[in-house]
Amino acid sequence: MHRPAQCGACGSDVLWTITDAGKRLAVNARPDPEGNTAAYRDGTGTWRSRRPTDELPMAPWERLYMPHVATCSARRPAEPPETTRCLGVINLADERRRRGDRR
Ligand SMILES: [Zn+2]
Repeated sequence: MHRPAQCGACGSDVLWTITDAGKRLAVNARPDPEGNTAAYRDGTGTWRSRRPTDELPMAPWERLYMPHVATCSARRPAEPPETTRCLGVINLADERRRRGDRR
């Protein structure tokens, strides 16, 4: 079983998804009908996300999620690195360091 990850800034459960553009995007771990991001888990267990469009509407296996940055309660404009982290796009080295830090 995959357990949700936590936002590095506010500690909320998030899902790390890979967008169509290959970027990492954190969405809230619970599906949200108000969200604008369709996500599903592919055959390898990777969460994929995209914006539903008229040409490619929601598929039966997709659910709507809210990008975490829209609801993150710990955004601190005075600290650019935290803000960047909460935008949901981080680099892998940064994430590894953060995971290793947790004790
Ligand atoms: Zn957050």
